[in-house]
Amino acid sequence: MKSIESPFPPFQNVTERDYSKPELVEKMKKALDKVKSEFGTLYPLYIDGKDVMTERKITSTNPARPTTEVIGQVGCAGRAEAEMAIAAANKALPGWRATSPEKRAEYILKAADIAEAERDELAAMMVYEVGKNWREADIDVCEGIDFLRFYAKEMIRLGAPVRLGSASGETNYHFYEPKGVAVVISPWNFPWAITVGMAVAAIVAGNPVLLKPATQSPIIAAMFVDIMKRAGLPAGVLNFIPGPGSEIGDFIVEHPNINMIVFTGSKEIGCRIYRLAAQVSDGQTHLKKVISEMGGKNGLIVDKEADLDLAAQSACVSAFGFQGQKCSAGSRAIVHQDVYDTFLEKLIACTEKLTIGFTEDLAIYNGPVIDANAYKSIKNYIEIGRKEGRVVFEKDCSHLGDGYFISPTIIADIKPDAVIAKEEIFGPVVAVIKARDIDEAIDIANSTDFALTGGVISRNKETIERVIREFRVGNLYINRKITGAIVARQPFGGFKMSGIGSKAGGHDYLFHFMDPRTVTVNENA
Ligand code: NAP
Repeated sequence: MKSIESPFPPFQNVTERDYSKPELVEKMKKALDKVKSEFGTLYPLYIDGKDVMTERKITSTNPARPTTEVIGQVGCAGRAEAEMAIAAANKALPGWRATSPEKRAEYILKAADIAEAERDELAAMMVYEVGKNWREADIDVCEGIDFLRFYAKEMIRLGAPVRLGSASGETNYHFYEPKGVAVVISPWNFPWAITVGMAVAAIVAGNPVLLKPATQSPIIAAMFVDIMKRAGLPAGVLNFIPGPGSEIGDFIVEHPNINMIVFTGSKEIGCRIYRLAAQVSDGQTHLKKVISEMGGKNGLIVDKEADLDLAAQSACVSAFGFQGQKCSAGSRAIVHQDVYDTFLEKLIACTEKLTIGFTEDLAIYNGPVIDANAYKSIKNYIEIGRKEGRVVFEKDCSHLGDGYFISPTIIADIKPDAVIAKEEIFGPVVAVIKARDIDEAIDIANSTDFALTGGVISRNKETIERVIREFRVGNLYINRKITGAIVARQPFGGFKMSGIGSKAGGHDYLFHFMDPRTVTVNENA
């Protein structure tokens, strides 16, 4: 593929923890102990620079021990608290908008330094609250810290007005202003990185925020809010309103004093928000901007001229990393008929090696899925898959108690139009589909409603070029796993029913949070 050099300054990502180093293992063990010793803490809402306690609480439990291990409790916002937060954010808007981009960035860079100093505790909380293994939790933390630094630096780059044209007697300035008050609604699967990224992009661009995290992961979000408090963010700029989306979601989305909604989550909720935000309420004087990043049904094409060990390893990690609960997860392996049987054997061999259990143990790769609803839904899809194809790998997890453990599951001989080849399962299930040739493989790969991630394993340069042109997804990966986008290197996000193409962690992202303005001055007046 022909390309030009990047015109942007280089960006230094945080280095992931290398747990082959005993001192880093020791640090993480200490962090796990510390976080555990603080189980049962009550985290308040945070509105207009003040902690707010509510009668109702959200209880956060460990999905590996849902009946016996309470992580803590968080206040639960209803409409009254949401209304207070909207008022506080609107009150903060003029001052925050007038704060220079450099000053705004300063708060965010300070928050990044605090987060980096506490990175093991943040990772440890995710091990307990959502069942990430050590490495997945650490990667989530690194991505969030990268978002903090990247968006801060981007805002400094975009903050200065630019003079346009050179007509005599006239000066033109082009610059950006924040859109207004932003609602940030985050999912539980990257409960730190996505929450931080969406909130901080809005804040650094000058928009006060109402943050509503997923009900399954409110404590890691509360830890982010605490870091922002300690970074000295002015009152009203970040308001924390955890609460059931089914109860307060429509209310905040439809509210006339909200300017934008920044959402990551399911297609169902994303489409609902998009529709509701388009309606103009009484008293509303603007159109709302919606950023909606949604699901995926991502395919990895395995060509007949592929390194099949690499193919199996890539398919295994893409399908089963964090129990398949990534929007980028490789839930379909689309395999050339000539190598189908050998690939399947190798994929089974890789998957057999995965360890399942309690993720506070470094040796464990797969933990539980997030909750009872996810467990039921994934199990149901596996039963559908049993009828639609051949289950060639699954393990018994009954020895693991009442946690929401589901084995990595490989279902072979799936037809391209089967239910489990089309619908997002969001669990550790991969559908293996046989393709006649590369034409059919590309057709199958493109045949879902989604366009998030995808990949190809091939040694054939022409095939690779063709897949780059014709497999239309937001993030395409060649000869590697299809998960794990890195800030500034692989801007992340899709289109079709996967999202509006805003590309988190990319140089275009902050534009979504601002309105462009141009001022023309007649210098001869
Ligand atoms: P979800 O059920 O759609 O929930 C996402 C957020 O929306 C939660 O905070 C939820 O709150 C809230 N919500 C629920 N009903 C609402 C309503 N009526 N109005 C406003 N907000 C409402 O998704 P999830 O299960 O947390 O996350 C998994 C999904 O996210 C998957 O589909 C995955 O593919 C997608 N995802 C996409 C990306 C991407 O970049 N494209 C990244 C990560 C995840 P409650 O928790 O209180 O219900």
